[in-house]
Amino acid sequence: MTKQPWKVAVVGLGKIAHDQHLPSIARLPEYELAATVSRSGGVEGVETFTDLGDMLAARPDIPVISLCVPPQVRYDMARAALAAGRHVMLEKPPGATLGEVEDLAAFAKERGLVLYATWHSRHAPAVAPAREWIADRSPSAVRINWKEDVREWHPGQQWIWEPGGLGVFDPGINALSILTAIWPAPLRLLSAELGFPENRATPIRADLALRDAAGTPMEVAFDWAHDGPPLWDLEVDASGETLKLSGGGKRMEVDGKLVLEEQEAEYDGLYTEFAGLLDSGARDVDVTPLRIVADAFLTGRITRTAPFHD
Ligand code: NAP
Repeated sequence: MTKQPWKVAVVGLGKIAHDQHLPSIARLPEYELAATVSRSGGVEGVETFTDLGDMLAARPDIPVISLCVPPQVRYDMARAALAAGRHVMLEKPPGATLGEVEDLAAFAKERGLVLYATWHSRHAPAVAPAREWIADRSPSAVRINWKEDVREWHPGQQWIWEPGGLGVFDPGINALSILTAIWPAPLRLLSAELGFPENRATPIRADLALRDAAGTPMEVAFDWAHDGPPLWDLEVDASGETLKLSGGGKRMEVDGKLVLEEQEAEYDGLYTEFAGLLDSGARDVDVTPLRIVADAFLTGRITRTAPFHD
C-alpha cells in the first residue's frame, strides 16, 4: 500500500513561510499542505484559520504543525499543538528562552509526540563536507564573519528588535548552528561585547570569543550595520590549511581553491529529516546554539550605539 503523505498545517505566513516552507512542502511527496493559520493571508485552495486553537479544534485530521512565527509567540502555540496531540516543527531559534524549549521537549516526550527544533543552516551543502574535513585534521583557530544590512534582510520586522527577538543573533545563530555541528568537541563562551542601539532592546552588533576544552581560539563577529553584499563566512585553520565556508555554507574552499559550490536546498533537507522523525517517532531538540546566545546575553559587556531607525 502506498504511504499517505503527512498532513501539515503551516502557522505564520511571513517571509520564511513563503520563501521556503510552502515551496518545500509543495515539492516533497511526504507532505500535503492541509491548512494554514494566519492573521493576514492564506494559500489558494487551502483552508485558512486566523487562530491556531480554532484550527486544532476543527481539524483533528491534521497531525503535523509547522510553526513559522517569531520566537516570542512560539512557546504558547507549540504547547497548545502538543496538548492537542500534534507533532511540531519549530523554526529557529526554537524559543525565546532555554527554559521554554526544555519544557516543550519534556512535554513532547511525556505525550509521545515528535518535536523538531530546526537549524536550517546545518543543511547547507558544505556543512557535512566541512565536518569531515575538520575530523581528519588538527584544528587550531576559527574566524566567523556574519555581517549583513538589517534594512535589506529584515525590512519592517519589529519583533527582531523586541525582547526575545535576538537582534543580530537572529542571523548570527545560524553561524553558531553550523559551528556547533562541524566542531568535534563542545564549545563555551569566553566573552562577548554587545552593541545595543539606544532605542532598541536587542543588539545590532556582537563580538564573541568561544573556546573548546583544548583552548582553540574562535573569534566571532556579527554585524547588522554592514554595507554592501552580505558576508556569511566561517574559516577554520587546521594542519597548515585554511577551510572557508561562504554564502552561509553553500560554498567551500581550501586555501583559496574551490572544493564545492551548490545551490541551497536547506528546507527540503529539513522537511526530509522531519519526515524521518515522524516515521520513527523520534525527537530532535538541540539547544546548543541558543545556549551560546543566552550566555552572551548573561555575561556580555553592553555598549549603547547610535539609535537605529528603519
Ligand atoms: P516575518 O516575516 O515577520 O513573519 C512572521 C509571521 O509570523 C508574521 O508574518 C505573522 O504571520 C506571524 N505572527 C504571529 N504572531 C506574530 C507576532 N506577534 N508578531 C509578528 N508576526 C507574528 O518573520 P520571518 O522572517 O518569516 O521569521 C519567522 C521565523 O523564521 C523567525 O524565528 C526567524 O528567525 C526564522 N527564519 C527566518 C528566515 C528569513 O530569511 N526571514 C530564515 C530562516 C529562519 P501572519 O500574518 O500570517 O499571522
